Amino acid sequence: MSDTIFHKIMRREIPADVVYEDENVIAFRDIAPQAPVHVLFVPKVDFATLNDVPEDDAVVIGRLATAAARYAKKEGFAENGYRIVMNCNADGGQTVFQIHLHLLAGAPLGRFGTPG
Ligand code: AMP
Repeated sequence: MSDTIFHKIMRREIPADVVYEDENVIAFRDIAPQAPVHVLFVPKVDFATLNDVPEDDAVVIGRLATAAARYAKKEGFAENGYRIVMNCNADGGQTVFQIHLHLLAGAPLGRFGTPG
C-alpha cells in the first residue's frame, strides 16, 4: 500500500474524524474545511490520481459518489444539495496523491473553475 497521509489515516496511524467506513471506502472530515460540511471519501485501493484509474475500475469512482450521496441523505442535506469534487494534479490543486472525492455542503456554494 502507498504511503500518503490518507493511507496513514486508513491504517489508523494518525487520527481523523471518520464519519463512514465500509470494506471499500473510508470517509472523514477535511482538516481544513472549505464549507460547513466538508468530508473526504477515499477508496481502499491505491490510485494516485484520476488519470491512473482504468475503465475496468470505474466502480471505484462510482462507489465514492454513491457513498457521498448516501451520507448526504443520512445527514439530511441531500435535498438542499451539495457538491462533489475530485482534484487532479497541479492545475486541479491536488495535494494528496491517493484519489479522493470532496463532499461540500451546508450552505449555498460559490461558483467554481475560475483560473488562479
Ligand atoms: P486535494 O487538494 O484535492 O488533494 O485534497 C486534499 C485534502 O486533504 C485537503 O482539502 C486537505 O485539507 C485535506 N487533508 C490534508 N491532511 C488531512 C488530514 N490529516 N485529515 C483530514 N484532511 C486532510
